[in-house]
Amino acid sequence: MNEWNPELALSSCKLIEPKEVEALGEANVHVVEDLLNWFPRRYEDRRCFDAFPVHVPGEAVCLRGMVVDSAKRRFGGRRQFYEIVVEGSGDSLLSTSRLTCRWFNMPYLHRMVAVGHEVVIYGKPKEQGSRMIMDHPEFEVVQDEGGSSIHLERIVPIYRNISGIPARRFRELLHEVLGRLDFEREEEPNPVFADSSRGEMLRDVHFPGELEKARRARRKFALEEFFLLQLRVLWRRQRFRSQPGRIQGRKTTLLRSFHESLPFDLTDAQKRSVHEITADLRSDRPMNRLLQGDVGSGKTFVAMCAMILVVESGSQSALMAPTQILAEQHYLTFRKWLSPLGIRVALVTGSRKESDHLDLEGEPQIVIGTHALLYDNVDFKDLGLVVIDEQHKFGVTQRSRLIQQGLIPDVLVMTATPIPRTLTLTMYGDLDVSILDELPAGRGKITTGMRQRPKVSDVTKFLREQLSSGRQGYIVYPLVEESDAVRASSAKGEIEKWAKRLRDYEVGLLHGKMKPEEKEEVMSRFRDNEIQVLVATTVVEVGVDVPNANVMVIYNAERFGLAQLHQLRGRIGRGSHPSYCILVTDGKNEEGNRKLQVLEATTDGFKIAEEDLTLRGPGEVLGTAQSGMSDLRFAEFLADGELVREARQLAEEVLEGDPELEDSPRLKKEVEEMREEF
Ligand code: ADP
Ligand code: MG
Repeated sequence: MNEWNPELALSSCKLIEPKEVEALGEANVHVVEDLLNWFPRRYEDRRCFDAFPVHVPGEAVCLRGMVVDSAKRRFGGRRQFYEIVVEGSGDSLLSTSRLTCRWFNMPYLHRMVAVGHEVVIYGKPKEQGSRMIMDHPEFEVVQDEGGSSIHLERIVPIYRNISGIPARRFRELLHEVLGRLDFEREEEPNPVFADSSRGEMLRDVHFPGELEKARRARRKFALEEFFLLQLRVLWRRQRFRSQPGRIQGRKTTLLRSFHESLPFDLTDAQKRSVHEITADLRSDRPMNRLLQGDVGSGKTFVAMCAMILVVESGSQSALMAPTQILAEQHYLTFRKWLSPLGIRVALVTGSRKESDHLDLEGEPQIVIGTHALLYDNVDFKDLGLVVIDEQHKFGVTQRSRLIQQGLIPDVLVMTATPIPRTLTLTMYGDLDVSILDELPAGRGKITTGMRQRPKVSDVTKFLREQLSSGRQGYIVYPLVEESDAVRASSAKGEIEKWAKRLRDYEVGLLHGKMKPEEKEEVMSRFRDNEIQVLVATTVVEVGVDVPNANVMVIYNAERFGLAQLHQLRGRIGRGSHPSYCILVTDGKNEEGNRKLQVLEATTDGFKIAEEDLTLRGPGEVLGTAQSGMSDLRFAEFLADGELVREARQLAEEVLEGDPELEDSPRLKKEVEEMREEF
């Protein structure tokens, strides 16, 4: 009988010492499966080592050699370092096959590695005088046990360190455990491993014959993770859609009056989206739709159409914005367009409640607000539609919280963060998607230019030219105030200087540390053109809409993310005037320069998103903290579109064949147990 199975507690494995069980437990490795899931963070091909470098190489190298000398040395008085000299075997005739390794402030190291040891060294060397030096390399003392060593003459897994367990011992443990497990006893067939056994894949991950095999196996496990994610998302979607929804949006008289009152036609993309939303509203299944469109593509007006339809059906709708400024602005826009139609609009934010229906009898029909909508006891009489603006700033939990108030309302989520299609599938996989891929006509062109340390007088001159023809502008800084830790300029530090340089104009300050009332006051003065220039931080990033503003100067532009710069730039180019975005940088940061060049080349949000994805990887792009994606084990595969689609398809197939997952109790359990964030 083989009692070895994935759930076996490590404490009942004889081959693991109690002390080791304890150390593993500290790292949250308790059962055999945890051990198997501790994937290598990289591999070393110890069948052929790199040659000892003569010049500084571009990448880290992996070397094998003998320790021929060692010494404890001191630097700067009390602090000490330990130094060894490693000599390559084989071509020792060449005097260059020597490397000095140094470790600072690690006094115990001399007990771990000393003269006579054979070592494998991994790291990036540098040149110092005539010597090659490596500081704090990763190393392992090896012995050639001949034949079937698991530490040499093969591709060797390198693991994240577990304190209390030497690297070699950990590797041996895994090897041993993999050998004892009986993978044929898989409880429940898993569609991901239909064409390959999980055991085989685990062996390939830990002890691959070829690196390519390890990569393929990892991809397989990524597929498993994404498959579960998609299964969960589709499962939720299925649950959500099977609930009874409202049938609304049949009457369109009010919507037609609204269209007639607009000074412009909706774009084709807006019309298409309104149709898709109308169909959802009318269906007896609850709507759960994402409206994705670049800044300025007119999402607010699409949302307004949806809300008007709901109002005419006799229910209330709510619009939730991520910031006070935005809620305020939406409120003004809604009031401007909807009050004339007799629709009652109210504003609820943390700091104030206001409504336009003091002179109109009855409950508000549209409520606009911030997070306060979730927590203040706003009494919705009959909430038919929830619109959430800029979803990425909200957690999913908050979303469901609002939905839980009363009978299920339809939900429309708006985001101006264009994300590549495959990421949409992962992040918003439970939503239907409408896309605004077209900007309203008559927008002025935006010209973007990167400038390396431009003269202040030139920037001032340019700004003055625009201001004198009646325009307004933004000057954006990365910091609110000067900081010792960060070398970048700040809004507070520069405002006085700008006020002097532009003294015939009104210069205002806007940053995140101001009180909401102050921010609001400044914004409204800017909107009314009482302030011509806003010196600001990224608080102007999201959704601020002042069509007369056509210049944006961004200082230390290299410090901002691509997506953020794109959002910032979206504040201009909203009117009919040509607009100008000036990206000021010192040009010293190469990655920063590349980023800014992307912005110079295009204003297409989807293209920028894709560039962002290649430059920074999915974790960064999605703003992991909010998206919950940081918890993905294989987040690096998120950019692998094919894999994401494959996962989606597998999940669809499984649910089609077995909607309740009755034949897959294990899968069902996993899907139900997955954290709410997914
Ligand atoms: P978004 O929310 O997508 O950033 P908004 O809905 O705030 O965009 O619209 C941006 C600006 O474009 C607003 O000033 C709005 O009045 C205007 N706008 C919206 N739709 C149209 C349209 N179809 N034609 C002309 N202007 C439009
Ligand atoms: Mg908007």
